[in-house]
Amino acid sequence: MDTYDVAAMDTLQPDQFGVVELAKRNGRVAKALDPSKLPRLQEASVDLTSVSGDVQFSFNEERLPVATGQAKAQVTLTCQTCDLPVEYALVAEFEMMLASVVRAAQLPRAADVRIIEDGQLALAELLEDELLLALPAQVCEDRDCKNLPVLEFPIPASELAASTERMDAQAAANADDADNPFAALQALKDKLKDEQ
Ligand SMILES: [Zn+2]
Repeated sequence: MDTYDVAAMDTLQPDQFGVVELAKRNGRVAKALDPSKLPRLQEASVDLTSVSGDVQFSFNEERLPVATGQAKAQVTLTCQTCDLPVEYALVAEFEMMLASVVRAAQLPRAADVRIIEDGQLALAELLEDELLLALPAQVCEDRDCKNLPVLEFPIPASELAASTERMDAQAAANADDADNPFAALQALKDKLKDEQ
C-alpha cells in the first residue's frame, strides 16, 4: 500500500481523483479538507471546524474500484432538548463500489454503489454525503446533555412504592385476561344456549 501524492494531484485537479489508477496502486488518500468544501454540512450545522478523510482504494472480484474508509468532522450542532450548541465528533465509515451510470445499472439493486463520471471521484462530495448520513437525529440521545437541569425534587420512596403497586395490580389484571382466552367464547356459548 502506498500513499498517493495528494499535494501533486491537488495542483492539477483539486478534489478529483482518478479511481482506476488509485485502485491499481492500492492507493490511499488521507487528507484534511477545508470546511468550505462541504457547504451542505456547513449548512446543516452551527459550525464546522475541521474535516478529514482517509480512503483506501482497491478492486473487487468484478474488477470494480472500491473505496473503503472513514470521514471525520468536528461540528457544532444545536441540541434539540436544550436548544444550545453542542460540540460533536462526527465519524462515518463506508465501503462502496465506484461505477459509471451504465455499469451501476447492471449491479444488484442492494449494492452500495457511488456513481462517478469519467472515472473521477469528487472526494469532498463523497465525504460530505457520508458525514450528512452520520448526523445524529437527536444530539442528546447520543451523548448526555450537560445543559439539562438536574431533577431537583426526586420522587419520594413511598410514592414510588405506591405507583409500583398500582402497576403490579394492573399487570395482574392483564395477566388474568391472558390466562383465560376462552372466557369470552364460553360467555358467548352460554348466551346462545340461553336464547335457544
Ligand atoms: Zn442538550
